[in-house]
Amino acid sequence: MLSIPQRFPNSVMMRRGTIVAGVMVCLGLAGCYERMVEPADVFGDVHQGETYSPASRMIDDWYAVEAIDAQTVAINEPKSSQYNTSYLIVGETRALMFDAGSGERPAGAQSMRKVAERYTGNKPITLILSHFHYDHIYDATTFDGVTLIDRPDIRAEIKDGIYTISPLESHGMDWRPLKVSGLIADGDVLDLGGRTLQVFNLPGHTTESVVLFDRDRNQVFTGDFVYRHLGGIIAFASGSDLTAYKKNSTRLLQLTRADTQFFGAHGIPRFDHDWLVLLDRELDKIAKGTATYRYAAHYLAPGIPWRVYQNGDLYIYTTPLINPPIFWSKWTGLLGAIISLLSLYLLYRIVCLVFSPGRRTRE
Ligand SMILES: [Zn+2]
Repeated sequence: MLSIPQRFPNSVMMRRGTIVAGVMVCLGLAGCYERMVEPADVFGDVHQGETYSPASRMIDDWYAVEAIDAQTVAINEPKSSQYNTSYLIVGETRALMFDAGSGERPAGAQSMRKVAERYTGNKPITLILSHFHYDHIYDATTFDGVTLIDRPDIRAEIKDGIYTISPLESHGMDWRPLKVSGLIADGDVLDLGGRTLQVFNLPGHTTESVVLFDRDRNQVFTGDFVYRHLGGIIAFASGSDLTAYKKNSTRLLQLTRADTQFFGAHGIPRFDHDWLVLLDRELDKIAKGTATYRYAAHYLAPGIPWRVYQNGDLYIYTTPLINPPIFWSKWTGLLGAIISLLSLYLLYRIVCLVFSPGRRTRE
């Protein structure tokens, strides 16, 4: 017959309780980490390394070019990890480059500026960045300067004619100082000579997000505000804001028409008005708290369980539990650091309890 020592129940029960608590925490976390999107799925309707259409042809080992019309060129990087497209918009007196390359081109490949010059002759080129993320700005320094959207936060950071994109803004590794050649306000019109573009600042994906509208040709260049055929819409970046996103998707809907052609910065460039209608509808549901969501821990920044909303082919990714501006605040960072430290300590205690030979002997 087994006799149970007096001290056994308390100590063992406590240890078991700690182990059970630890296992439950791990299972709880695992429940959030639903692997919903694999890298292969992210490419959807495009094939990395291949052109999206016969209309887009390789001009060298890295770039593919489609003439949307005689004065509008889509410069695609089919081998880039996010399947980027930048746009060259040409007028009679000057050209506008919208974005400056993914930064993944191999050493020795020509810069975005060199590609642009093939189609502009000697016309000066104005560079506008759709936003400051690392995969849109790489060759910005090869241009004579950059025209930035006129916002108080951007103005405040221009020092001696230089605006430096920070790693937090770019989600990249470097500080990127750029010479500022001008500022342009929301709603202003750029005259390229016989061709005009209206510039809009539409925060949502990032605060500085810019969209260009050629009203005569009924073309809108959207950057990352909205695109199709690749991954999902990103509303989890440090400058993302769901309330602003909804407000500005509605604004863009009101500015455009059912037959407007849209050109995004990722995936197959061209998409229709219907896609923007769908985005607006889903953002509306998110804003009202009526949208259903799941978690995906394997998208662009693996490890964080992004909240994902889906309707058909449209995915919208945002931050878990709280809206992006709070998620990226220093207080959330501090809280995350404290929780991580406590979790590590808990793990350490569990490992000690399970593997400590001295304790087992005493049992
Ligand atoms: Zn972006």
